[in-house]
Amino acid sequence: MAKRTNRRIVLVKRPEGEVTPDCMRLAEEAAPEPGEGEALVRNLYLSLDPTQGGWMKYDTYMPAIPIGDVIRSAGVGEVIESRSPLYAKGQLVSGLVGWQEYALADGGGRRMNAVPAGVSPVESVSLFGITGLTAYFGLLEVGKPKPGETVVVSGAAGATGSVVGQIAKIQGCRAVGIAGTDEKCRWLTAELGFDAAINYKTQDVGDALREACPKGIDVYFDNVGGAILDAALLQLARGARVALCGAISGYGEKEPPPGPRFLMQLILKHAHMEGFLVLDYVARFPEAIAAMRKWAAEGKLQNRVDVVEGLENAPAAFQRLFTGGNTGKLLVRVA
Ligand code: NAP
Repeated sequence: MAKRTNRRIVLVKRPEGEVTPDCMRLAEEAAPEPGEGEALVRNLYLSLDPTQGGWMKYDTYMPAIPIGDVIRSAGVGEVIESRSPLYAKGQLVSGLVGWQEYALADGGGRRMNAVPAGVSPVESVSLFGITGLTAYFGLLEVGKPKPGETVVVSGAAGATGSVVGQIAKIQGCRAVGIAGTDEKCRWLTAELGFDAAINYKTQDVGDALREACPKGIDVYFDNVGGAILDAALLQLARGARVALCGAISGYGEKEPPPGPRFLMQLILKHAHMEGFLVLDYVARFPEAIAAMRKWAAEGKLQNRVDVVEGLENAPAAFQRLFTGGNTGKLLVRVA
């Protein structure tokens, strides 16, 4: 049989500030042969996540991607050869597959998880993948919303934010989203059931939050940091919880952006601000997926994905996360 070629996107230089496509290149090499205890996975969909920019630049909660290595990424694929009792040929698996056509799975550092029966490959890397799980745990465990409270989420039309607002509604809360276009705001209110949405590019966010949250913000789920976090802090209700999920407005900066200006509000409002990583909750992922699958089956939770065709387009597509060019979960379809 002719040897398979593995096309892959590799890191050629560390980005400074903004992640630009020229930090990566398309490379080709022979696809790996699975050794004893390994399986060969043909990748179907790759995940594009803002955190990959950090992995390209420096050590974070994971070591920096070495120069020349494949871009680390989550994704889903099909087992096409197996020399491991953990994986069966034809099985769908998800894990850190990398931006490439083929990946090896094993029982150690390259362990992948079986996609549960009834979950589609796309769902496994969107609603029931890392971003959906981030929304679930960040909102419920850090934000701790109570029925009748007001939940505000920034990056609201993205993969994580769109799920946060929907779970807030399921919890009986008022949900207010902040997003970057009128079309995104319309989608949030008309289709996802948010009570209000604010276009941060055309509206004064402080004024709009005062109007949309007359009793103040009880839970602020922050995906963006910067000026929007400042505006939300000024509108906190007494006893508010601020869940720090991400700070994408600063990810493209060469120098760390200035800190939040209104931390005094935490004192005045007896409020609480806490950062979290979804990986803290790995042991509880099955419980969250079961809950979200039930809500989805009941029609309470929608999943929207934005799929770009072709591995070679991943570096350019990645920029959409920072320009607002995606609605819902951004994926690349490989095969
Ligand atoms: P996403 O929301 O699907 O995409 C990013 C969105 O951010 C864009 O669509 C854009 O929408 C918005 N954005 C970009 N630049 C912005 C700016 N300067 N100001 C305001 N909004 C901006 O991405 P995601 O994967 O779901 O990630 C969302 C956030 O969650 C990120 O900060 C990410 O780092 C974080 N995250 C954290 C964890 C964790 O464990 N803590 C896990 C996953 C993700 P607009 O059109 O609205 O601007």
